Amino acid sequence: MSDNRHSTAQPGKEEYEEAVLKDDAEYRQQHETVKRQQAEERERAGEPAEPKVGVYICRCGGNISDVVDVERVAQVVAMVPGVAVAKVHTFMCSDPGQHTISNDILENGLDRVVVASCSPFLHEQTFRGAVSRGNLNPYLYEHVNIREQGSWAHKHDPEGATRLAIQMITGAVGKLRNAQPLELIKLPNHRQALVIGGGIAGMKTAAELAARGIRVLLVESSNRLGGRLNERGRVYPSETMASDLVADLERQVRNNGNIDILLNSKVTVVDGFIGNFRTVIEGLIGPSGGFDKRDALVGAIVMATGYRPYVPRDGEFLYRQDPCVLTTPEFIQMMQNLDAGTGSLQYNRRTIRSVAFLHCVGSRQLDGVNEPQADGTLNKYCSRTCCSTILQQSLALRKRFPQVHVYDFHRDIRTYGRGEEEYYTEASKAGVVFFRYNGEDPLQVERATGASGKQAPSRKEAPITITVKDMLTWGQEIAVPVDMVVLGVGMVPSHIEDLVDSIKLPTGEDHFLQEVHPKLRPVEVAVNGVLIAGTAQGPMNIQETLNAAAAAAVKAAAMFAREMVELNPYVASVDASLCCGEGLCVTQCDYEGALHLVETEIDGQTVQRAEVNAGLCVGCGACVAVCPHRAMELNGWRLDQFEAMVDGLMADTQHADCEPQLVNLG
Ligand SMILES: Cc1cc2nc3c(=O)[nH]c(=O)nc-3n(C[C@H](O)[C@H](O)[C@H](O)COP(=O)(O)OP(=O)(O)OC[C@H]3O[C@@H](n4cnc5c(N)ncnc54)[C@H](O)[C@@H]3O)c2cc1C
Repeated sequence: MSDNRHSTAQPGKEEYEEAVLKDDAEYRQQHETVKRQQAEERERAGEPAEPKVGVYICRCGGNISDVVDVERVAQVVAMVPGVAVAKVHTFMCSDPGQHTISNDILENGLDRVVVASCSPFLHEQTFRGAVSRGNLNPYLYEHVNIREQGSWAHKHDPEGATRLAIQMITGAVGKLRNAQPLELIKLPNHRQALVIGGGIAGMKTAAELAARGIRVLLVESSNRLGGRLNERGRVYPSETMASDLVADLERQVRNNGNIDILLNSKVTVVDGFIGNFRTVIEGLIGPSGGFDKRDALVGAIVMATGYRPYVPRDGEFLYRQDPCVLTTPEFIQMMQNLDAGTGSLQYNRRTIRSVAFLHCVGSRQLDGVNEPQADGTLNKYCSRTCCSTILQQSLALRKRFPQVHVYDFHRDIRTYGRGEEEYYTEASKAGVVFFRYNGEDPLQVERATGASGKQAPSRKEAPITITVKDMLTWGQEIAVPVDMVVLGVGMVPSHIEDLVDSIKLPTGEDHFLQEVHPKLRPVEVAVNGVLIAGTAQGPMNIQETLNAAAAAAVKAAAMFAREMVELNPYVASVDASLCCGEGLCVTQCDYEGALHLVETEIDGQTVQRAEVNAGLCVGCGACVAVCPHRAMELNGWRLDQFEAMVDGLMADTQHADCEPQLVNLG
């Protein structure tokens, strides 16, 4: 290795290409040497110089074999160098199918296994299990998908699907011949969870975790637990007092010795990885209750940071221009603050005789109709709780003040939960008048001019006019004078940009936190060890919030079930003898902390070398691609494995038509 490879200066493009070409030759030489050494090692260990690969081809009950000629595939791949057994089974995933694999390993001394069947998503783990039961390292296994990528994709081309299966299996055998045993990465697991946000989602998560014996730090930025429910009265559909729900959950968290509650506090730093997150919490903490900083090491983080009600822009439907235009949370507060037994509805020194509720304010916004938010985006999503809230509130208003006329202006009504459609029926019966309009042709909310034609209406006249093309009366334009307008505002995410940034949390188009998969992994995010609970993920009602929180707690508890965190071994590794410490890999790495340079002593000199943090590395391979010295490799996907796999994939399958010369079935 020449001296300039130890220079820390960044190479230019030409130097880089020269280095790559030179290293390519060097690499091939090294690769040959490694192969020779591996063969020698195998010989010393009493193993055959060539690996013994078992190939198992699944008929999948006809799903594969109705298209792919699986018997022919077995005959042909049996001739591939290294393949000792090639067998076909009707259901490889069945107990007898799995037993065949473990048995062949034990009885025929197989030391590599390929299964060609359905998607690895379904059965890769099943077959790794079968390999382990044969006392073979489960990473000496390759899964080939000849169903979704073969028989299903090419059902009109059986010949092509058969050849493709042969090529894919040959590629897998090639890759596997160069495979090395790998072990799960095991890291310490700190059995403490950090729950950020003390609304009902945060409290429920904390209570569920603590009930399973897990210590919880519950961090709330405001001075009380309960979140937005502290601002609500009776909640649909149960008509329970929100304060009772909050009190119930608060009792559960305050009476549990496993939960530390930190109010007026914020998490300001998060780094580390699953099982080992290092965090700094700042706020009114410590025995004195004074401002303090506290470090905490936690195994899992639950984001329960909730939502904010949408705040209309100044002038949007006359908001902040007319004092009688309120949002739903403001209306709920107003109703709660009214003295019991009030005979008429008084607000802002006016007698309110008519109230209009407007749906979808700040939700389901349309291009070209609604004005975008400050960041240029529209809230295109449905906030899911506004329709039921409006119907519940309008019904309550009619019951309490039967003399007040109530009007409901909507594009659609979405009262989807159990017991919620009833609010619509009841509100209709109670005399609420409904208007439906087309979102493309929105309603207008304007100051009324008064009957006399003067600018301001008299105190007896309604100050606001709503004009709508009502679809329930075939598009008739109707002007409705009202004393008060209630804007049914939707939900927007809490301001957690700092946490999103520091934990690298993914957010969706709607800016709420984004789960890995809405159906299959609904409370996990792409950052291992971080979960989401409640409306931090998107609009939810109380029931959905509590379900999501319970799910997040169960997921977090499952992470703590093991003493150590186990991660898959497909992470980058550094060959320190080839690394020159230039740091190209570090600059290309997208995962903060996954790769860094460390100082080390070599031949009496202090040099820098790349080091991988296996807890943070996701195995993307970006570092492998940029290292000019081939010092980086991805375990399980080394370059020599790729080469062997590509050779296999490109193998000439013309001989697939020939009668096999050699079929070695064990
Ligand atoms: C007008 C309106 C009326 C509604 N009425 C009903 C109803 O009748 N029935 C029903 O089922 N649902 C109703 N909902 C929905 C209900 O409010 C939510 O389902 C529920 O409040 C969600 O709870 P949460 O814990 O997810 O969020 P939140 O209640 O928002 O709690 C989040 C908590 O996290 C804290 N937090 C935020 N950021 C941080 C941070 N960085 N660090 C620490 N703490 C932080 C906040 O201070 C807050 O305490 C209504 C919604 C609206 C908008």
